[in-house]
Amino acid sequence: MPVEPMVSPVPSRLLPPLILFGLTLALTLGGILARPIESLSLFWPVNAVLAGVLLRNSRQANPGGFALIYLAMVAADLACGSAWRPAVWFNLCNLGAIATIWFLMARLPRVHRRLRTPHGTLCLFGACAAGAIVAASLACVMAAPWFEQSLRATWLAWFSEQFSTSVLVLPVLLTAPSPRALTRPGSASQTVRLAPLLVLLASLSVSIVFGGPGAIAFPIAALLWCALSYSPFLVSLLALTSGSTLIVAVAQNLMHFNIPQSETGVTTLMSARLGIAMLVLGPLVLACVSSANRSLMARLAHQATIDHLTGALSRSAFIRRAHALLDNREQAPLTLMMLDIDHFKTINDQHGHAVGDQVLRQFATTLQDQLHDGELFARLGGEEFVIVVPGLAPELARFTAERLRRAVQDQHIAQPGQPLRITVSIGVSGCAADTLAPSLDELLASADQALYRAKAQGRNRVEQADGQRQVV
Ligand code: GH3
Ligand code: MG
Ligand code: MG
Repeated sequence: MPVEPMVSPVPSRLLPPLILFGLTLALTLGGILARPIESLSLFWPVNAVLAGVLLRNSRQANPGGFALIYLAMVAADLACGSAWRPAVWFNLCNLGAIATIWFLMARLPRVHRRLRTPHGTLCLFGACAAGAIVAASLACVMAAPWFEQSLRATWLAWFSEQFSTSVLVLPVLLTAPSPRALTRPGSASQTVRLAPLLVLLASLSVSIVFGGPGAIAFPIAALLWCALSYSPFLVSLLALTSGSTLIVAVAQNLMHFNIPQSETGVTTLMSARLGIAMLVLGPLVLACVSSANRSLMARLAHQATIDHLTGALSRSAFIRRAHALLDNREQAPLTLMMLDIDHFKTINDQHGHAVGDQVLRQFATTLQDQLHDGELFARLGGEEFVIVVPGLAPELARFTAERLRRAVQDQHIAQPGQPLRITVSIGVSGCAADTLAPSLDELLASADQALYRAKAQGRNRVEQADGQRQVV
């Protein structure tokens, strides 16, 4: 029976603009409700959030998207009782900040834009400063009639609020992991150390209790520790929380330092806001340096452990793990097999190096499919591989080795033209239960001798080391 396609009430291409409009409306309403009408709020995070949304969803960043954002902001202002003139002008200032930050950051390569480099974080500071300058200047030019203070004080108030809020909010949005990264295997199993977080909470409390201008710098050491321990996203969240807490504490005069308003119009809150924004720069830069360092180390460790062509263990990783297996063997039997593809040079000569590589990859996949957890499989070099099977007595290993030999013989290797067939020769050595373990070098040498015999006796066969040939 034919299945009727589900009909959505909203065509799918209208969904993203509708979401952008709804998000802007909700954010602006939330921002307005958190401040007295037509006066400046302590935080106006709407501009920074929307700039971050556009930077993460570049398809929405077009003239239509900006127009929708503007309309939604004006609509929210009017719905909350603003007169239409201030609603029109104030939101042009907000739009100016959003467009400036987006314009400057969207130009950067993705790795900088997502703050994976210190350069990206510094650029974000520059973009936030530019956005705040544009918003403050537009406010002085267009919205001046609605301010009671001097133009200079108005400019400074807009600039300090917009700069500090953007610097605190935007890193969270730009470093937030995508849904795909969250569902990647292993992402949920990462453990988070609590100590840096607890020290941060303690130093924030001490800042507020101790008070005074210097106290806003107290949480820096803890934030730097967080930067060395956590992901840039978590550090951005902690910087946002700590920075906002300090700003609120200063605004509420909980930290007991009030500088008299200077002739330049600078207030305690403006100065503290700018200082806090600059203080989080260090931890944010350190977080991205340390995260880049961690992923580089992980990549290097992976490259040193895994052979890049075949995915088998590298020679050095094999030697380390095989030694560990032999050391912890506790008298259990163990088998080592040395494998060498037959006439591999001819494959390279007749079909080219790229097909040779493909043969090596497929050979490795076929063998890995046959192995179990705890068994070692490594590429010693060229077309030579080694397998270690703990718990398998060498006199019984012929069955396993024959199974592997047949699996290789039966595989069809896809390549331009006829599929290729290859064979492998295998030399087996090992140690029986309750015997003293030979050294890894001895095991490798006797497997190599057996392999040599397998080659000499016609290839595509399994040979066991001397003294281990009784069971067939
Ligand atoms: P035998 O049956 O005696 O083992 O003969 P063979 O041709 O397999 O052995 P030989 O040692 O003479 O040739 C190994 C070849 O493997 C020579 C080398 O060019 C090739 N080789 C080594 N590493 C790679 C690689 O990473 N990719 C490719 N395509 N070829 C490689
Ligand atoms: Mg060979
Ligand atoms: Mg060889």
